[in-house]
Amino acid sequence: MDRPVTEADLTFEHVPETDQSFENALAKARDGDRLTVDDAIELLTTGTDSGGIDRTRKERVLEAADRRRAETVGEEVTFIANLNNNVTTACNVGCLFCNFKDAAHTFERETEIETAGFTKTPDESREIVADAVERGIYEVTSVSGLHPAFALDDDHREILEAHPNPKEVNYKSPELYETSPGTYTEQMAAMDVDGVHVHSMTPEEAYHARRGTDWSYEEIYRRLRDAGLDTVPGTAAEILVDEVRDVICPGKIDTDGWLEAMEAAATVGLGMTATIMYGHVENEAHRAIHLKRVRDLQDRTGTITEFVPLSFIHQNTPLYEHDVVSGGASTDEDELMIAVSRLFLDNIDHIQSSWVKYGDQQGLKMLSCGADDFMGTILSEEITKRAGGEFGEYRSFADYVDLVSSIGRIPVERSTDYENRRVIDPGESPLGPQLGPKADGTPLLTREEQDAREARTAPADD
Ligand code: SF4
Repeated sequence: MDRPVTEADLTFEHVPETDQSFENALAKARDGDRLTVDDAIELLTTGTDSGGIDRTRKERVLEAADRRRAETVGEEVTFIANLNNNVTTACNVGCLFCNFKDAAHTFERETEIETAGFTKTPDESREIVADAVERGIYEVTSVSGLHPAFALDDDHREILEAHPNPKEVNYKSPELYETSPGTYTEQMAAMDVDGVHVHSMTPEEAYHARRGTDWSYEEIYRRLRDAGLDTVPGTAAEILVDEVRDVICPGKIDTDGWLEAMEAAATVGLGMTATIMYGHVENEAHRAIHLKRVRDLQDRTGTITEFVPLSFIHQNTPLYEHDVVSGGASTDEDELMIAVSRLFLDNIDHIQSSWVKYGDQQGLKMLSCGADDFMGTILSEEITKRAGGEFGEYRSFADYVDLVSSIGRIPVERSTDYENRRVIDPGESPLGPQLGPKADGTPLLTREEQDAREARTAPADD
Protein backbone atom coordinates (compact mmCIF):
# COMPACT_ATOMS: atom_id res chain seq x y z
CA MET A 1 0.00 0.00 0.00
CA ASP A 2 1.65 3.26 -1.10
CA ARG A 3 -0.69 5.39 0.98
CA PRO A 4 -1.31 5.55 4.74
CA VAL A 5 -3.58 2.89 6.23
CA THR A 6 -7.05 4.31 6.85
CA GLU A 7 -9.95 3.35 9.11
CA ALA A 8 -11.69 1.95 6.03
CA ASP A 9 -8.79 -0.46 5.44
CA LEU A 10 -9.28 -1.75 8.98
CA THR A 11 -13.02 -2.30 8.62
CA PHE A 12 -13.06 -6.02 7.98
CA GLU A 13 -15.61 -8.38 6.53
CA HIS A 14 -14.60 -11.07 9.02
CA VAL A 15 -15.43 -10.17 12.61
CA PRO A 16 -15.42 -12.26 15.78
CA GLU A 17 -19.14 -12.94 16.04
CA THR A 18 -20.69 -16.41 16.11
CA ASP A 19 -23.85 -18.36 16.89
CA GLN A 20 -21.83 -20.82 18.92
CA SER A 21 -21.47 -20.60 22.71
CA PHE A 22 -18.22 -20.69 24.64
CA GLU A 23 -19.39 -23.66 26.74
CA ASN A 24 -20.30 -25.73 23.66
CA ALA A 25 -17.01 -24.96 21.99
CA LEU A 26 -15.07 -25.90 25.11
CA ALA A 27 -17.04 -29.13 25.52
CA LYS A 28 -16.20 -30.08 21.94
CA ALA A 29 -12.53 -29.29 22.55
CA ARG A 30 -12.46 -31.42 25.68
CA ASP A 31 -14.13 -34.32 23.88
CA GLY A 32 -11.59 -34.17 21.07
CA ASP A 33 -14.19 -33.26 18.43
CA ARG A 34 -12.94 -31.44 15.36
CA LEU A 35 -13.45 -27.71 15.96
CA THR A 36 -15.04 -25.26 13.54
CA VAL A 37 -13.95 -21.69 12.88
CA ASP A 38 -16.79 -20.50 15.15
CA ASP A 39 -15.60 -22.82 17.93
CA ALA A 40 -12.11 -21.39 17.61
CA ILE A 41 -13.43 -17.83 17.75
CA GLU A 42 -15.33 -18.63 20.96
CA LEU A 43 -12.22 -20.12 22.54
CA LEU A 44 -9.86 -17.36 21.38
CA THR A 45 -12.18 -14.66 22.73
CA THR A 46 -13.27 -16.68 25.81
CA GLY A 47 -16.78 -16.12 24.52
CA THR A 48 -18.18 -13.53 22.14
CA ASP A 49 -21.06 -13.02 24.57
CA SER A 50 -18.98 -10.54 26.54
CA GLY A 51 -16.12 -8.17 25.80
CA GLY A 52 -12.55 -8.74 26.92
CA ILE A 53 -10.90 -11.93 28.16
CA ASP A 54 -12.58 -13.81 31.00
CA ARG A 55 -9.65 -15.17 33.05
CA THR A 56 -11.58 -18.10 34.52
CA ARG A 57 -12.68 -19.24 31.09
CA LYS A 58 -9.18 -18.71 29.76
CA GLU A 59 -7.77 -21.06 32.39
CA ARG A 60 -10.25 -23.72 31.33
CA VAL A 61 -9.14 -23.42 27.70
CA LEU A 62 -5.48 -23.65 28.71
CA GLU A 63 -6.19 -26.67 30.85
CA ALA A 64 -7.95 -28.47 27.98
CA ALA A 65 -5.03 -27.69 25.68
CA ASP A 66 -2.46 -28.85 28.21
CA ARG A 67 -4.34 -32.12 28.61
CA ARG A 68 -4.47 -32.57 24.82
CA ARG A 69 -0.74 -31.91 24.63
CA ALA A 70 -0.07 -34.60 27.25
CA GLU A 71 -2.27 -37.10 25.38
CA THR A 72 -0.70 -36.31 22.00
CA VAL A 73 3.01 -36.00 22.74
CA GLY A 74 3.49 -36.74 26.45
CA GLU A 75 5.86 -34.87 28.75
CA GLU A 76 8.81 -34.38 26.42
CA VAL A 77 9.93 -30.88 25.48
CA THR A 78 11.96 -30.85 22.31
CA PHE A 79 14.54 -28.45 20.90
CA ILE A 80 17.06 -28.54 18.08
CA ALA A 81 20.71 -27.60 17.63
CA ASN A 82 20.43 -25.08 14.81
CA LEU A 83 22.20 -22.18 13.17
CA ASN A 84 20.56 -19.11 11.68
CA ASN A 85 22.27 -18.12 8.49
CA ASN A 86 20.25 -15.41 6.83
CA VAL A 87 21.81 -14.51 3.50
CA THR A 88 20.71 -10.89 3.10
CA THR A 89 18.64 -8.18 4.74
CA ALA A 90 18.17 -6.35 1.41
CA CYS A 91 14.48 -6.12 0.59
CA ASN A 92 12.11 -3.62 -0.94
CA VAL A 93 8.81 -5.44 -0.50
CA GLY A 94 7.88 -3.06 2.31
CA CYS A 95 5.81 -5.21 4.68
CA LEU A 96 4.46 -2.95 7.39
CA PHE A 97 5.19 -5.37 10.24
CA CYS A 98 8.83 -5.97 9.32
CA ASN A 99 11.84 -4.75 11.26
CA PHE A 100 14.32 -7.07 9.55
CA LYS A 101 14.85 -5.54 6.12
CA ASP A 102 17.14 -2.78 4.89
CA ALA A 103 16.05 -0.87 1.79
CA ALA A 104 17.59 -2.67 -1.17
CA HIS A 105 18.94 0.50 -2.83
CA THR A 106 21.25 1.10 0.14
CA PHE A 107 23.20 -2.00 -0.96
CA GLU A 108 24.01 -0.62 -4.40
CA ARG A 109 27.53 0.45 -5.39
CA GLU A 110 26.45 3.88 -6.57
CA THR A 111 24.60 4.92 -3.45
CA GLU A 112 25.82 7.53 -0.98
CA ILE A 113 23.94 5.85 1.85
CA GLU A 114 25.86 3.35 3.89
CA THR A 115 23.74 0.25 4.36
CA ALA A 116 23.03 -1.02 7.83
CA GLY A 117 22.44 -4.52 6.48
CA PHE A 118 24.43 -7.39 5.06
CA THR A 119 24.58 -9.75 2.11
CA LYS A 120 26.60 -12.97 2.13
CA THR A 121 28.08 -14.63 -0.92
CA PRO A 122 27.60 -18.41 -1.27
CA ASP A 123 31.25 -18.88 -0.21
CA GLU A 124 30.63 -16.89 2.95
CA SER A 125 27.52 -18.93 3.71
CA ARG A 126 29.46 -22.16 3.27
CA GLU A 127 32.20 -21.02 5.64
CA ILE A 128 29.68 -20.04 8.33
CA VAL A 129 27.71 -23.26 8.02
CA ALA A 130 30.84 -25.43 7.94
CA ASP A 131 32.03 -23.88 11.20
CA ALA A 132 28.64 -24.50 12.84
CA VAL A 133 28.49 -28.09 11.55
CA GLU A 134 31.89 -28.73 13.16
CA ARG A 135 30.45 -27.34 16.39
CA GLY A 136 27.58 -29.84 16.24
CA ILE A 137 24.44 -28.29 14.71
CA TYR A 138 21.80 -30.49 13.10
CA GLU A 139 20.03 -27.82 11.03
CA VAL A 140 20.75 -24.54 9.29
CA THR A 141 17.75 -22.22 9.03
CA SER A 142 17.97 -19.55 6.36
CA VAL A 143 15.32 -16.92 5.64
CA SER A 144 16.33 -13.80 3.78
CA GLY A 145 15.13 -10.51 2.35
CA LEU A 146 14.08 -10.53 -1.30
CA HIS A 147 17.27 -9.09 -2.74
CA PRO A 148 16.57 -7.75 -6.25
CA ALA A 149 19.70 -9.51 -7.61
CA PHE A 150 18.64 -12.93 -6.34
CA ALA A 151 17.68 -15.41 -9.08
CA LEU A 152 16.80 -19.07 -8.75
CA ASP A 153 19.70 -20.26 -10.92
CA ASP A 154 21.58 -19.41 -14.11
CA ASP A 155 18.53 -20.17 -16.31
CA HIS A 156 16.42 -17.82 -14.25
CA ARG A 157 19.08 -15.10 -14.32
CA GLU A 158 19.20 -15.30 -18.10
CA ILE A 159 15.44 -14.75 -18.28
CA LEU A 160 15.54 -11.87 -15.83
CA GLU A 161 18.49 -10.21 -17.60
CA ALA A 162 16.55 -10.38 -20.89
CA HIS A 163 13.38 -8.95 -19.37
CA PRO A 164 12.28 -5.76 -21.18
CA ASN A 165 11.46 -4.07 -17.90
CA PRO A 166 13.38 -5.73 -15.05
CA LYS A 167 12.05 -3.24 -12.51
CA GLU A 168 8.57 -4.60 -13.14
CA VAL A 169 9.75 -7.98 -11.80
CA ASN A 170 11.87 -6.54 -9.00
CA TYR A 171 15.18 -7.48 -10.64
CA LYS A 172 18.54 -5.73 -10.79
CA SER A 173 21.85 -7.16 -11.97
CA PRO A 174 24.30 -8.32 -9.33
CA GLU A 175 26.95 -5.98 -10.78
CA LEU A 176 25.01 -3.05 -9.34
CA TYR A 177 25.59 -4.26 -5.80
CA GLU A 178 28.59 -4.22 -3.50
CA THR A 179 28.00 -7.92 -2.74
CA SER A 180 26.03 -10.40 -4.81
CA PRO A 181 24.02 -13.08 -3.02
CA GLY A 182 24.55 -15.35 -6.05
CA THR A 183 21.59 -17.58 -6.89
CA TYR A 184 19.26 -19.46 -4.57
CA THR A 185 20.51 -22.82 -5.81
CA GLU A 186 24.12 -21.72 -5.22
CA GLN A 187 23.20 -20.71 -1.68
CA MET A 188 21.44 -24.05 -1.03
CA ALA A 189 24.41 -25.99 -2.36
CA ALA A 190 26.80 -23.86 -0.31
CA MET A 191 24.87 -24.47 2.92
CA ASP A 192 24.49 -28.20 2.28
CA VAL A 193 27.67 -29.06 4.19
CA ASP A 194 28.35 -32.65 5.31
CA GLY A 195 24.67 -33.63 5.29
CA VAL A 196 23.47 -30.84 7.60
CA HIS A 197 19.71 -30.27 7.29
CA VAL A 198 18.92 -27.17 5.19
CA HIS A 199 15.65 -25.50 6.24
CA SER A 200 14.98 -22.60 3.88
CA MET A 201 12.96 -21.02 1.05
CA THR A 202 9.64 -19.77 2.37
CA PRO A 203 6.75 -19.53 -0.11
CA GLU A 204 7.58 -15.83 -0.53
CA GLU A 205 11.20 -16.64 -1.39
CA ALA A 206 9.96 -19.34 -3.78
CA TYR A 207 7.81 -16.70 -5.47
CA HIS A 208 10.87 -14.43 -5.80
CA ALA A 209 12.72 -17.40 -7.29
CA ARG A 210 10.17 -17.72 -10.10
CA ARG A 211 9.32 -14.06 -10.76
CA GLY A 212 9.27 -13.10 -14.41
CA THR A 213 8.71 -16.73 -15.54
CA ASP A 214 5.76 -19.07 -15.93
CA TRP A 215 7.52 -21.81 -13.95
CA SER A 216 5.44 -23.67 -11.42
CA TYR A 217 6.25 -23.75 -7.71
CA GLU A 218 6.87 -27.47 -8.14
CA GLU A 219 9.62 -26.74 -10.65
CA ILE A 220 11.15 -24.19 -8.27
CA TYR A 221 11.11 -26.46 -5.24
CA ARG A 222 12.38 -29.42 -7.32
CA ARG A 223 15.43 -27.45 -8.41
CA LEU A 224 16.00 -26.20 -4.87
CA ARG A 225 15.64 -29.70 -3.46
CA ASP A 226 18.14 -31.03 -6.00
CA ALA A 227 20.54 -28.27 -4.95
CA GLY A 228 20.40 -29.27 -1.26
CA LEU A 229 17.17 -27.94 0.28
CA ASP A 230 15.61 -30.36 2.82
CA THR A 231 12.57 -28.66 4.37
CA VAL A 232 10.63 -25.42 4.01
CA PRO A 233 9.81 -22.93 6.80
CA GLY A 234 6.14 -21.99 6.56
CA THR A 235 6.78 -18.38 7.42
CA ALA A 236 5.53 -15.46 5.31
CA ALA A 237 2.10 -16.87 6.19
CA GLU A 238 1.39 -13.93 8.52
CA ILE A 239 -2.42 -14.12 8.52
CA LEU A 240 -3.85 -16.23 5.70
CA VAL A 241 -6.78 -13.93 5.01
CA ASP A 242 -6.37 -11.48 2.16
CA GLU A 243 -8.18 -8.55 3.76
CA VAL A 244 -5.47 -8.57 6.44
CA ARG A 245 -2.59 -9.21 4.02
CA ASP A 246 -3.78 -6.24 1.93
CA VAL A 247 -3.07 -4.01 4.93
CA ILE A 248 0.11 -5.45 6.44
CA CYS A 249 1.93 -6.94 3.44
CA PRO A 250 0.34 -5.78 0.18
CA GLY A 251 3.53 -6.55 -1.74
CA LYS A 252 3.51 -10.21 -0.76
CA ILE A 253 1.86 -13.22 -2.39
CA ASP A 254 -1.77 -13.69 -1.40
CA THR A 255 -3.27 -16.53 0.64
CA ASP A 256 -3.81 -18.80 -2.38
CA GLY A 257 -0.27 -18.19 -3.56
CA TRP A 258 1.12 -19.17 -0.16
CA LEU A 259 -0.97 -22.35 -0.05
CA GLU A 260 -0.08 -23.24 -3.65
CA ALA A 261 3.65 -22.93 -2.91
CA MET A 262 3.39 -25.06 0.23
CA GLU A 263 1.48 -27.79 -1.58
CA ALA A 264 4.05 -27.77 -4.35
CA ALA A 265 6.85 -28.20 -1.82
CA ALA A 266 4.97 -31.17 -0.33
CA THR A 267 4.44 -32.63 -3.80
CA VAL A 268 8.18 -32.78 -4.45
CA GLY A 269 8.74 -34.45 -1.09
CA LEU A 270 9.83 -31.56 1.12
CA GLY A 271 8.73 -31.47 4.76
CA MET A 272 7.57 -28.15 6.20
CA THR A 273 6.48 -26.14 9.20
CA ALA A 274 3.65 -23.60 9.42
CA THR A 275 3.30 -20.32 11.30
CA ILE A 276 0.88 -17.54 12.19
CA MET A 277 2.01 -13.98 12.91
CA TYR A 278 -0.72 -12.40 15.02
CA GLY A 279 -1.37 -9.47 17.33
CA HIS A 280 -1.38 -6.57 14.83
CA VAL A 281 -4.48 -5.43 12.90
CA GLU A 282 -6.27 -8.77 12.68
CA ASN A 283 -9.03 -10.04 14.96
CA GLU A 284 -9.87 -13.47 16.39
CA ALA A 285 -11.97 -14.39 13.34
CA HIS A 286 -8.88 -14.00 11.16
CA ARG A 287 -6.81 -16.11 13.54
CA ALA A 288 -9.46 -18.84 13.47
CA ILE A 289 -9.73 -18.81 9.66
CA HIS A 290 -5.95 -19.00 9.46
CA LEU A 291 -5.94 -22.11 11.66
CA LYS A 292 -8.57 -23.68 9.43
CA ARG A 293 -6.52 -23.02 6.28
CA VAL A 294 -3.44 -24.58 7.87
CA ARG A 295 -5.43 -27.61 9.07
CA ASP A 296 -6.93 -28.06 5.57
CA LEU A 297 -3.45 -27.82 4.05
CA GLN A 298 -2.23 -30.50 6.44
CA ASP A 299 -5.22 -32.71 5.56
CA ARG A 300 -4.11 -32.47 1.94
CA THR A 301 -0.35 -32.86 2.45
CA GLY A 302 0.37 -34.44 5.84
CA THR A 303 3.86 -32.91 5.74
CA ILE A 304 3.63 -30.15 8.38
CA THR A 305 5.68 -31.19 11.39
CA GLU A 306 5.05 -28.23 13.67
CA PHE A 307 2.98 -25.09 14.01
CA VAL A 308 4.64 -21.94 15.29
CA PRO A 309 2.55 -19.05 16.65
CA LEU A 310 4.60 -15.85 16.34
CA SER A 311 3.43 -12.92 18.41
CA PHE A 312 3.87 -9.63 16.54
CA ILE A 313 6.77 -7.59 17.92
CA HIS A 314 5.67 -4.02 17.29
CA GLN A 315 8.78 -1.97 18.09
CA ASN A 316 10.57 -0.46 15.07
CA THR A 317 7.87 -1.48 12.61
CA PRO A 318 6.01 0.85 10.22
CA LEU A 319 2.67 -0.36 11.66
CA TYR A 320 3.65 1.00 15.06
CA GLU A 321 5.56 4.05 13.88
CA HIS A 322 2.59 5.17 11.76
CA ASP A 323 0.16 4.62 14.66
CA VAL A 324 -1.77 1.86 12.90
CA VAL A 325 -1.28 -0.30 15.98
CA SER A 326 -0.43 0.73 19.52
CA GLY A 327 1.21 -2.54 20.55
CA GLY A 328 1.06 -6.29 20.13
CA ALA A 329 -1.00 -9.11 21.61
CA SER A 330 -1.56 -9.30 25.38
CA THR A 331 -0.20 -12.21 27.39
CA ASP A 332 -3.74 -13.60 27.66
CA GLU A 333 -4.06 -13.53 23.87
CA ASP A 334 -0.66 -15.21 23.48
CA GLU A 335 -1.65 -18.03 25.83
CA LEU A 336 -4.96 -18.53 24.09
CA MET A 337 -3.30 -18.56 20.67
CA ILE A 338 -1.01 -21.42 21.74
CA ALA A 339 -3.87 -23.29 23.43
CA VAL A 340 -6.35 -22.97 20.58
CA SER A 341 -3.65 -23.94 18.06
CA ARG A 342 -3.18 -27.17 20.02
CA LEU A 343 -6.92 -27.85 20.22
CA PHE A 344 -7.79 -26.88 16.65
CA LEU A 345 -4.86 -28.43 14.78
CA ASP A 346 -5.73 -32.04 15.50
CA ASN A 347 -3.52 -33.17 12.60
CA ILE A 348 -0.28 -31.42 13.61
CA ASP A 349 1.58 -33.01 16.52
CA HIS A 350 3.89 -30.24 17.61
CA ILE A 351 3.18 -26.68 18.71
CA GLN A 352 6.18 -24.48 19.27
CA SER A 353 6.74 -21.95 22.00
CA SER A 354 9.07 -19.26 20.66
CA TRP A 355 11.22 -17.93 23.53
CA VAL A 356 12.51 -15.26 21.17
CA LYS A 357 8.99 -13.82 20.92
CA TYR A 358 7.68 -14.56 24.42
CA GLY A 359 10.83 -14.34 26.57
CA ASP A 360 12.14 -17.13 28.80
CA GLN A 361 9.55 -17.16 31.57
CA GLN A 362 6.49 -16.75 29.37
CA GLY A 363 8.02 -19.13 26.83
CA LEU A 364 8.21 -21.76 29.57
CA LYS A 365 4.66 -21.01 30.63
CA MET A 366 3.51 -21.75 27.06
CA LEU A 367 4.70 -25.32 27.54
CA SER A 368 1.78 -25.69 29.98
CA CYS A 369 -0.69 -24.05 27.58
CA GLY A 370 -0.43 -26.63 24.80
CA ALA A 371 3.09 -26.21 23.40
CA ASP A 372 5.68 -29.00 23.45
CA ASP A 373 8.57 -27.69 21.34
CA PHE A 374 10.94 -24.98 22.56
CA MET A 375 12.70 -23.90 19.32
CA GLY A 376 16.43 -24.19 18.89
CA THR A 377 19.83 -22.93 19.91
CA ILE A 378 19.85 -20.29 17.12
CA LEU A 379 23.58 -20.15 16.92
CA SER A 380 24.52 -17.38 14.53
CA GLU A 381 27.55 -15.95 12.87
CA GLU A 382 27.19 -12.87 15.03
CA ILE A 383 27.67 -15.01 18.09
CA THR A 384 30.50 -17.18 16.88
CA LYS A 385 32.49 -14.72 14.83
CA ARG A 386 31.79 -11.05 15.33
CA ALA A 387 33.49 -9.07 18.04
CA GLY A 388 30.88 -6.39 18.50
CA GLY A 389 27.47 -5.07 17.58
CA GLU A 390 24.42 -7.25 17.73
CA PHE A 391 24.95 -10.68 19.16
CA GLY A 392 21.66 -12.22 18.22
CA GLU A 393 19.95 -14.71 20.45
CA TYR A 394 21.45 -17.98 21.56
CA ARG A 395 20.43 -20.73 23.95
CA SER A 396 22.88 -23.42 25.06
CA PHE A 397 21.91 -27.05 25.72
CA ALA A 398 22.77 -26.51 29.40
CA ASP A 399 20.27 -23.61 29.56
CA TYR A 400 17.67 -25.71 27.81
CA VAL A 401 18.07 -28.62 30.19
CA ASP A 402 17.85 -26.28 33.22
CA LEU A 403 14.72 -24.54 31.93
CA VAL A 404 12.85 -27.66 30.84
CA SER A 405 13.76 -29.57 34.01
CA SER A 406 12.62 -26.63 36.15
CA ILE A 407 9.01 -27.29 35.09
CA GLY A 408 9.23 -31.04 35.58
CA ARG A 409 9.31 -31.97 31.89
CA ILE A 410 11.76 -34.08 29.91
CA PRO A 411 14.39 -32.31 27.75
CA VAL A 412 14.77 -33.93 24.33
CA GLU A 413 17.12 -33.07 21.46
CA ARG A 414 15.36 -33.52 18.12
CA SER A 415 15.92 -33.52 14.38
CA THR A 416 13.98 -31.08 12.17
CA ASP A 417 11.33 -33.68 11.37
CA TYR A 418 11.13 -34.99 14.97
CA GLU A 419 11.97 -38.50 13.74
CA ASN A 420 15.29 -38.52 15.59
CA ARG A 421 14.88 -37.76 19.26
CA ARG A 422 17.31 -38.12 22.14
CA VAL A 423 16.17 -37.84 25.75
CA ILE A 424 18.79 -35.86 27.65
CA ASP A 425 19.80 -36.91 31.14
CA PRO A 426 20.18 -33.64 33.09
CA GLY A 427 23.20 -35.20 34.83
CA GLU A 428 25.07 -35.60 31.52
CA SER A 429 28.38 -33.82 31.28
CA PRO A 430 29.17 -32.06 29.06
CA LEU A 431 25.73 -31.02 27.79
CA GLY A 432 25.82 -30.72 24.04
CA PRO A 433 24.13 -31.92 20.85
CA GLN A 434 24.56 -35.46 19.52
CA LEU A 435 22.29 -35.63 16.47
CA GLY A 436 24.10 -33.36 13.97
CA PRO A 437 26.44 -34.87 11.34
CA LYS A 438 29.50 -33.92 13.38
CA ALA A 439 27.93 -33.54 16.83
CA ASP A 440 29.99 -35.22 19.54
CA GLY A 441 28.15 -34.19 22.69
CA THR A 442 30.32 -31.16 23.44
CA PRO A 443 28.60 -27.73 23.74
CA LEU A 444 28.24 -25.58 20.60
CA LEU A 445 30.34 -22.84 22.20
CA THR A 446 33.48 -23.45 24.25
CA ARG A 447 33.49 -22.31 27.87
CA GLU A 448 35.65 -19.30 26.89
CA GLU A 449 33.31 -18.34 24.03
CA GLN A 450 30.28 -18.69 26.28
CA ASP A 451 31.92 -16.52 29.00
CA ALA A 452 32.91 -13.90 26.44
CA ARG A 453 29.38 -13.84 25.05
CA GLU A 454 27.83 -13.47 28.49
CA ALA A 455 30.22 -10.63 29.33
CA ARG A 456 29.34 -8.82 26.08
CA THR A 457 25.61 -9.19 26.50
CA ALA A 458 25.52 -8.38 30.25
CA PRO A 459 23.79 -5.07 31.04
CA ALA A 460 26.15 -2.14 31.72
CA ASP A 461 26.73 -1.40 35.43
CA ASP A 462 25.31 2.08 35.24
S1 SF4 B 1 9.40 -9.69 2.36
FE1 SF4 B 1 10.25 -10.35 4.34
S2 SF4 B 1 12.14 -9.11 4.63
FE2 SF4 B 1 10.93 -8.16 2.97
S3 SF4 B 1 9.74 -6.56 4.00
FE3 SF4 B 1 8.44 -8.40 3.89
S4 SF4 B 1 8.81 -9.51 5.84
FE4 SF4 B 1 10.46 -7.98 5.60
